[in-house]
Amino acid sequence: MINQTLGQQAGFNLLWLQSGGCGGCSLSLLNAESPNLLHTLEGAGINLLWHPMLSEETGSEMVRILEAILAGEIRLDALCFEGAVMRGPNDTGRFHMLAGTGRSMLDWVQDLAAVAGYTLGIGTGASFGGITAGGGNPTDACGLQFAETERGGVLGEAYRSIRGLPVINVAGCPTHPNWITETLMQLALGEFSEADLDEWQRPRGYADHLVHHGCPRNEFYEFKASAEEHSQLGCMMEHMGCLGTQAHADCNTRLWNGEGSCLRGGYACINCTAPGFQEPGHPFQETPKFAGIPIGLPTDMPKAWFVALASLSKAATPNRLRQNAVSDHIVVPPQTRKKGRHE
Ligand code: SF4
Ligand code: SF4
Repeated sequence: MINQTLGQQAGFNLLWLQSGGCGGCSLSLLNAESPNLLHTLEGAGINLLWHPMLSEETGSEMVRILEAILAGEIRLDALCFEGAVMRGPNDTGRFHMLAGTGRSMLDWVQDLAAVAGYTLGIGTGASFGGITAGGGNPTDACGLQFAETERGGVLGEAYRSIRGLPVINVAGCPTHPNWITETLMQLALGEFSEADLDEWQRPRGYADHLVHHGCPRNEFYEFKASAEEHSQLGCMMEHMGCLGTQAHADCNTRLWNGEGSCLRGGYACINCTAPGFQEPGHPFQETPKFAGIPIGLPTDMPKAWFVALASLSKAATPNRLRQNAVSDHIVVPPQTRKKGRHE
């Protein structure tokens, strides 16, 4: 049953829909902690109108919620859309029909976004197209307001939600649960403006950071002591494809599930918050090089300086880091200063 009073409630009404994706962002959302998702929403005064994994309403009950929103009976404060929008075939959107409605998800999202206080693209699929738009893109998938780096998407470059913001791209593949809940809490409090979005319309709360910040391999990076194979401890920028110095996200300071990150798990960062990340043009876990120098150097550092400093730091690499970098466990521990030696 629809709560007929939701439209009049003082709270912040949230609707969540899924389309062309794997559902991973919803699964990630369920891992919200300190506090958990439901307590977080409740504490922020956010009413969950419907979510495909959490709600009891199904079939005609769920369709009635959508109809009530469009009829103005329920106020829609935030529309969260997860996964890419599939425009095919031939711009009909019929690759994803919303069951029981006879209408494509493309139609539904365009209608709902027109009455939403805020519209959020959840994950890199909904933001830019992501994995679903990879390869030959047979479903003609794209994001809500971007098709990869090109502005437009299915809502158009000029789209603004009822509260005057463009689509908020909570990009990530999957996106971090707290990137979503923090953004929603800011919106519910009325403390989020266009100035809080970066150039790809990602919330700056997490996008003003780099994955490189707080990486446990930073000491290896400083001396360009590099891993050469999987499982080794060294920095993964030089040989293993790590884009942490370019990837906008706080994965190594916010952490996932309280303690994890790609780097801590032994995987190079593939910059999953960026448009087009799914097709880097080379194997994800290899660093493309020209004349032995990595092509994708840190974006805010002149290349000549990087090369000069890298060769200097390599020459100064302590034996401990040189050996540990190519080992799967610490083989040379830090030295203990001999008693009485303080020079
Ligand atoms: S592994 Fe990647 S994120 Fe970590 S220090 Fe090296 S470049 Fe930075
Ligand atoms: S470390 Fe990189 S690839 Fe991994 S989740 Fe963060 S941004 Fe995405």
